[in-house]
Amino acid sequence: MVRTRFAPSPTGFLHLGNARTAIFSYLFARHHGGKFILRVEDTDRERSRLEYEEEILKDLRWLGIEWDEFYRQSDRFEIYRSYVEKLLQEGHAYPCFCTQEELQREREEAQKRGVAYRYSGRCRALSPQEARKMMEGGKSYTVRFKVPDGRNVVFEDLVKGYISINVDDFGDFVIVRSDGSPTYNFVVVIDDALMEISHVVRGEDHIPNTPKQILIYEALGFEVPKFAHLPVILGEDRSKLSKRHGGVSVKAYREEGYVSEALFNYLCLLGWSAPDDPDREIFSKEELIELFELKDVNSSPAVFNRDKLRWMSGVYIREVLPLEEVASRVLPFLKDAGYDVGDTEYLKRVLEHTRDSFDTFSEAVDRLRPFFVDEFEIPQELMGLLEDMRSLEVLNLFLEKLKESKPSSVEEVKRLARTIQKELKVKPKEVWHTLRIALTGALEGVGIDILIALLPQESIEFRIKRVLDRVS
Ligand code: GLU
Repeated sequence: MVRTRFAPSPTGFLHLGNARTAIFSYLFARHHGGKFILRVEDTDRERSRLEYEEEILKDLRWLGIEWDEFYRQSDRFEIYRSYVEKLLQEGHAYPCFCTQEELQREREEAQKRGVAYRYSGRCRALSPQEARKMMEGGKSYTVRFKVPDGRNVVFEDLVKGYISINVDDFGDFVIVRSDGSPTYNFVVVIDDALMEISHVVRGEDHIPNTPKQILIYEALGFEVPKFAHLPVILGEDRSKLSKRHGGVSVKAYREEGYVSEALFNYLCLLGWSAPDDPDREIFSKEELIELFELKDVNSSPAVFNRDKLRWMSGVYIREVLPLEEVASRVLPFLKDAGYDVGDTEYLKRVLEHTRDSFDTFSEAVDRLRPFFVDEFEIPQELMGLLEDMRSLEVLNLFLEKLKESKPSSVEEVKRLARTIQKELKVKPKEVWHTLRIALTGALEGVGIDILIALLPQESIEFRIKRVLDRVS
């Protein structure tokens, strides 16, 4: 049975790179009919926050990643303690009484000699009696894992291939801090083993941790899972994707009104492509579940391209989501902007004609303003243009004809505009420009013929009369 997990630390918002890890881990489990587990890794009490946990869960739900089991490491301290006991008793771990200052001195020493630092192993030599005496004397201590000398730990990574790391690179490492809290490298093993995780899917920044974890699996007699380390995501400048590259949290994209399915889809393409159709870009979640395999994940870094993501969000708005769905998703954004949206039938009619003009729901707020907001400023220079273009005549005639013909389709609006052109002997451009400025306060934006066809008659009259009042 395939069992995978996503194990975020609630020390910040969900980063795009972690979201991709979650997605790959999720897709792999679903592809194999297995289980996907969410585990909040909050053993670092200083930096973990419940608010972050809540935001991360919200982001995962928004992305459509549902989990089968949920755990929080801070609820499991008793379990970890029993395994620390076991390691101590069986001689795989020992208490270390070295003080911060002593360790700092060792570190400086190593630096002076120009060698990589590793703990000297001084406290390894203490006899159990000596150690007990110091503990009872109240001396503060950490617990270190006893790393077997000279071993090469080798594992086959499902993405990166064979990886071999010599334990001399790290030395005896801490598994319990002096405040009694267990460290990541230790609890991750206990949890992955007890939760029967078959495949550990995570970022490649964890590769150096993997041999430490394998040693703990072995010491406790646990079966070692398979590992898949995913390459990093880079910004366009080829450095690791970070805040410098702009929005890198899922929350930022959620709040900016990107389509969640598009973000899910786009993140999948950062390091994965369909084996039979590598150029294909648009996939539903169901299709991805059907197709996704870890073996098809590229082992070299992927480059994040915000424009591409934005484009894809637009594709989902224009072509993928049903109109109903576009309406219900854009609605909260319009309401937040203070628009009086009224009935959703009107909104749907508007979207039918405008959904191809924005890529995100926050962009829709700007694009759709003329359909919902009657009160707006017309900049002075545009008012000037109106005066130049025989606009009073155009507007007056338009208003008159509008009452008679009540155009409600683009065709009817165009016919009306033609009548005005002919009667006043003006160019089409002059008619459209005048109407556009009067009705939207801008020189560009949504199709003016569509706006006139859909906007309630009272709104049109209100806006035009206001201009006429101002000009005269
Ligand atoms: N809490 C770790 C992180 O967020 C998880 C690493 C792992 O998946 O083992 O990086």
